[in-house]
Amino acid sequence: MLIFLKVCYKIVHKYIEEKRIDMSYLFDIHVHTKESSCCGEVPAAQVVERYKKLGYDGICVTDHMNLHNIRKHGSTYEEGARVFLSGYRAAKAAAGDSFKVLLGMEIRFLDYDNDYLVFGFDEDFIFTRNFAEFSELEEFRPFALENHLTVFQAHPFRNNIAVVSPSLLDGMEVYNGHGGHDSRNDIAYRWAEKYGLRMSSASDFHRETGMEPGGIYLDRMPGDSADLAKMLLNKEYKLKTFVK
Ligand SMILES: [Zn+2]
Ligand SMILES: [Zn+2]
Repeated sequence: MLIFLKVCYKIVHKYIEEKRIDMSYLFDIHVHTKESSCCGEVPAAQVVERYKKLGYDGICVTDHMNLHNIRKHGSTYEEGARVFLSGYRAAKAAAGDSFKVLLGMEIRFLDYDNDYLVFGFDEDFIFTRNFAEFSELEEFRPFALENHLTVFQAHPFRNNIAVVSPSLLDGMEVYNGHGGHDSRNDIAYRWAEKYGLRMSSASDFHRETGMEPGGIYLDRMPGDSADLAKMLLNKEYKLKTFVK
């Protein structure tokens, strides 16, 4: 009887494991479009096509939110912000029902050339204040907490990036797949490990560079950016690509 129960348990356990793997959704959460990032080289519709072909279930469009990018795209913040959203909107329109497109941003403050990935907001939120003129992470952090935003530092060990206190971050990008820079992903991994920071993996897609595409596996399809922000906070994901 005991052996029979053990066999049953193993079969059920294996089934659950397989189901769990089946339920994995692959997302790239650091992606740029030509429409909204000065440095983006691929139009949103082609970006979506690329990721569909690679077998991803969705992307989070994280175009640049900084003074340079906003000013280049309009004479007022509102004008620039509308262009900021246009890449995301075009990706969403191109995606159809079988592919999820979420809204995020890669923000830079006025002090350093550090970049931070922000998740957990909708289109209207962009117009609630001028996001291109936050002075520093110390100013942004309480605002992020108040508004349930999740903040991961992008490519934290590239040249000219300042080290910030881990207490100001929800996590850190430990794999950045932009082949045009040396992101020192191995150091980022060790740093996140040392300070117990959540880790993320993504491509920082601007164009093809030959690097392994990054990404995260999620157990379920996120409903929107706020849902993704929560899943990241709760560590409900696994890294697709990373370098120890
Ligand atoms: Zn860029
Ligand atoms: Zn980026």
